[in-house]
Amino acid sequence: MYRDVVASLATRHGKRAALGPPLRRHLGLRLRVPPVDTDALGTFTGEVERPGPAPQVVVAKARLGMDAADCPVGVASEGSFGPHPAVPWHSLQVEYVVLLDDRLGLVVLETASSVAGNHADLLTDGTDRGELLAFARRTGTPGHALTVVPAVPAPGAPVLPAKGIVTVRSLLAAVAAAGAASRDGRARVAADLRAHHNPRRMAVIAEAGVRLARRMATACPGCGAPGFGPVAARPGLPCSACRTETDLVAERVSGCGLCTYQRAERVRPFAADPASCPSCNP
Ligand SMILES: [Zn+2]
Ligand SMILES: [Zn+2]
Repeated sequence: MYRDVVASLATRHGKRAALGPPLRRHLGLRLRVPPVDTDALGTFTGEVERPGPAPQVVVAKARLGMDAADCPVGVASEGSFGPHPAVPWHSLQVEYVVLLDDRLGLVVLETASSVAGNHADLLTDGTDRGELLAFARRTGTPGHALTVVPAVPAPGAPVLPAKGIVTVRSLLAAVAAAGAASRDGRARVAADLRAHHNPRRMAVIAEAGVRLARRMATACPGCGAPGFGPVAARPGLPCSACRTETDLVAERVSGCGLCTYQRAERVRPFAADPASCPSCNP
């Protein structure tokens, strides 16, 4: 289905290194990177706001690449960073990878997530140089780059971030310039989240790429379309002591992007520890 097919990959940030190998290995698909401005769909530093949630934007991004390259098959990825919904004090990185196939009318989305990303920022006026350099070290600089913006930009002033910073000298200069442009005299320093400047992020994109490739290599048992895989998880795993339904996942449902065929599989172990039971351990 995909052997020696050329798909567009909409990226300005070197994602072919992460997504190319698994798609080639599992499907024989080759990627072409057309000259598209993916920054028009949002930047991490805030000059351009993302026009919607990541699972929608990733599809728009793939479409942008397919139009530019005139390819019926397209691939794109989009990252999302924020507080972890379940674990306090942790941030969660989710990478969405999508494959669109207009020959079939197919849209297949896969994800990979990590709590090990370097999504954090530091507000500084630059006087505590030790704190600034310790932050840079934790972020992984110089292997990972930094960005610097004014903490409180003047109203109406364009945000002009300094990006791709990997030296102490350019970091100090950027902090001084951003502090001077900020109404509170401080700069916001953060990890550069663009994939080619952030190997930790690139590794999670590669993981999402492997999942997408494996999923595309899995045919739907109902209609034979590629891309059969997990679509939902159903809670309600029964307590091992009293059989009350808990919030834990009882079944994983796999589905098809083209037909309505679904397959549910029970999750092992088939019962929940009474510690998770609302009846035994209210
Ligand atoms: Zn199907
Ligand atoms: Zn119970």
